[in-house]
Amino acid sequence: MEFEFKITARDGAARAGRLLTTHGLIETPSFVAVGTQATVKSLTPEELREIGIQVIIANTYHLHLRPGEDLIGEMGGLHRFMGWDGPLMTDSGGFQVFSLGAGREQGVGKIASIFPEERDRGGHFKSKRAKPLVEVNEEGVEFISYLDGSRHHFTPEGVIEIERQLGADIILVLDECTSPLHDYDYTRAAMERTHRWARRALEEFERTTDGKQALFGIVQGGAYRDLREESAKFISSLNFDGYAIGGSLGKSKREMHQVLEWTVPLLPEGQPRHLLGIGEVEDIFAAVERGIDLFDCVAPTRMARNGTLFVRDSKRFRMHISNAQYRDDPRPIAEGCGCYTCRHYSRAYLRHLFEAQELLAMRLATIHNLYFLESLMRQIRAAIGEGRLAELKREWLSSA
Ligand SMILES: [Zn+2]
Repeated sequence: MEFEFKITARDGAARAGRLLTTHGLIETPSFVAVGTQATVKSLTPEELREIGIQVIIANTYHLHLRPGEDLIGEMGGLHRFMGWDGPLMTDSGGFQVFSLGAGREQGVGKIASIFPEERDRGGHFKSKRAKPLVEVNEEGVEFISYLDGSRHHFTPEGVIEIERQLGADIILVLDECTSPLHDYDYTRAAMERTHRWARRALEEFERTTDGKQALFGIVQGGAYRDLREESAKFISSLNFDGYAIGGSLGKSKREMHQVLEWTVPLLPEGQPRHLLGIGEVEDIFAAVERGIDLFDCVAPTRMARNGTLFVRDSKRFRMHISNAQYRDDPRPIAEGCGCYTCRHYSRAYLRHLFEAQELLAMRLATIHNLYFLESLMRQIRAAIGEGRLAELKREWLSSA
């Protein structure tokens, strides 16, 4: 087994480490770039490498529906198929169970519903209520493809089998995400089902393992303290290679911090911890200082495609490049940024590309946002090594 995690430095609850996978090393804490459809939208693997991206997470649910795990298997597996030979993860589809099922039914999406008190965080279903596409039962999940209306069935064992064919280095178990709109009783029932699924997934994984993939369990339990603690203890008692925290993290950032504070201390100390779905600067500091090693989020790339660029000295670290003030601004997005975009182009040019709806706009903006995050992560790892994470956080948060 190639999988190995070594903690190299600590600063309070934060850790820096080295996570070795079959396809290489991840220095943690690390951002995991989202490549849902086996691509980080608009960029090539060479560009991702140049930016400093260490690991990508693709989505089992989407790749199962299109082009199908059989085809990807025939093409030599996901690494070869997408031309990325570095560390790769696959998410199981639990999030989609939620966002296309309960989320749709209740008229909220995952991102919006994680923080329903905060305005648009780019959640997908801001729409009215619609018929659910998903039915959850003890055996697994029945759902209808959003692409062609065909019927599909996911079980904990079946998802492991799909993830085997895809061949990512780190794979996740099938879980059921609940919405903050679900009550305590439903959240408990879903959590208990998720626990039974976790055990089944692990059995299937151990039965079929080739030693090349690592399996992460997922803690659920919504924003309820006793459920989160129970879930963290139960999932930790199973022999997973790492542990993810999934599902609804409450109605506000404060509640998200609480969920982390209840959960993380109960996870095994020596194994990696992944937080699903978080990727803004304040959230990254909040997660890292509570002991998270890996996190993924669509926000940095999605925001880039909408012309929202990450910058240090601005409210919430954001610049809206379409603002009129940048029309004739010759400066790069961020002075001193070493990314390809900032080394070559002005704000005025970027703004023009967005106004003209040119494809290059999205590429250049994505390059910058990912580079910005990677450079933040490098600073965070160095700060943990030097015991000055709190100082780095103060520097960053006082500038926004
Ligand atoms: Zn830049």
